[in-house]
Amino acid sequence: MTAVVVGVALVAVLPGAALAGGNDKNSDRLSWVARSLGRQVLPTNDGWAAAGPGTTGGAAASADQVYVVGSRTELVDALGGDNATNRTNATPKIIYVKGTVNGFDDPDGTRLTCADLADPEYDFDEFLATYDPAVWGRVNPSGPLEDARRRSVTNQTAQTQINVGPNTTIIGLRGATFENLTLMVDSANNVIVRNLLFDDAYDCFPAWSPNDGDAGNWNSQYDLMSVRRSENVWVDHNTFTDGDNPDSAQPVHFGRPLQVHDGALDITHTASLVTVSYNKFDGRDKVMLIGSSNTVGPDVGRLNVTLHHNIFDGSLQRLPRIRFGQVDVYNNHYKLSGDDFEYAVGVGVQGAPYLQNNAFHLAPGIATADLLYDWGGTVVTEQGNWVAEGRRPLRPASLLDAYNAVNEPDLGADAGWTPTLRHGPVLPAVAVPLYTRLTAGAGKLPV
Ligand code: CA
Ligand code: CA
Repeated sequence: MTAVVVGVALVAVLPGAALAGGNDKNSDRLSWVARSLGRQVLPTNDGWAAAGPGTTGGAAASADQVYVVGSRTELVDALGGDNATNRTNATPKIIYVKGTVNGFDDPDGTRLTCADLADPEYDFDEFLATYDPAVWGRVNPSGPLEDARRRSVTNQTAQTQINVGPNTTIIGLRGATFENLTLMVDSANNVIVRNLLFDDAYDCFPAWSPNDGDAGNWNSQYDLMSVRRSENVWVDHNTFTDGDNPDSAQPVHFGRPLQVHDGALDITHTASLVTVSYNKFDGRDKVMLIGSSNTVGPDVGRLNVTLHHNIFDGSLQRLPRIRFGQVDVYNNHYKLSGDDFEYAVGVGVQGAPYLQNNAFHLAPGIATADLLYDWGGTVVTEQGNWVAEGRRPLRPASLLDAYNAVNEPDLGADAGWTPTLRHGPVLPAVAVPLYTRLTAGAGKLPV
């Protein structure tokens, strides 16, 4: 079975026979559009995920490896049957998601709570009393309560982190939502994830890091989606949000906001060849970390990622933050606001960002000079970006010139590479806001 999508026109060649339906007879009721999109592979040259063998996900799945899932249990079953070992299940498979899959759902049909996942020795009030910097000092928590917190994290990870194996396509049917879970692509090449709303992967047991930043920070374990030690991953037409549990509404402890979220989509631990296209990232603190360590080691030559036609709406930092990788950022729309805005593109150690034809709308109080941040990097290539400050219209602007005018040391203007893996025309920046509004995010594919 093959399907070819040219622009927005769908031209599909499909067999007449219905799919056998995997473990779920619902899959033989899928529309032919859904079936063709489920079999779709990454287009030729569409970003870094097109390098090497390209990205086909589960397109080669046999009929008995096509699933429609509507619960955590069904999702884990489709991924291979055991969440602890599913990351090694390389059988090609296509998984359609119907409705809401919640990470806290128990196989018996009940919904677990943080209290259910907590170690018997863990108590948050006791944790606060014990590790208050005024009592404990500015040193990392240790001892029985911290050990109990870590055991609780292990419990939660087993429950809410859903592990994906190689050669997998996961695609949402209309309205499909992954709620309160982390989709983990670790040591799993050739994965496609499309048309899903990722909502609020909250951490029941955040860590206190007293020496993270000047005043310490609470840190969460969980991204909405993580890509680690994997190649050829295509993340397309999804929406990432914290829904009704935003960072801005968290309580303050030890003078710092309790952070129950980590990244929206973090790409770390030597992952590479990832294309992130047509997604919408809704307002939150941290969005996308590309590389999690400054160590000049296994990440060198890795972490190559393409971001195109995404919307970053109201987020505060890491849009993305880049270490080591050659990262192509083109035709994205940034809508930035908020007193707590930090930066858009973080230029980290040996990072090689290529920023072309992006559009930036900045609320009053945010300046073009605020868009880059130097996390130990040295260079950025940019061209064709347009910025609207305050209520002024979009106009051509240099993020680099604006940054260098008010910062030392200056960043250099040549990241040392030119992207060649692009599919279709690169739009002028001025066309990007309307185009992405019509096309980016979950619910835009005709599934
Ligand atoms: Ca993370
Ligand atoms: Ca300067």
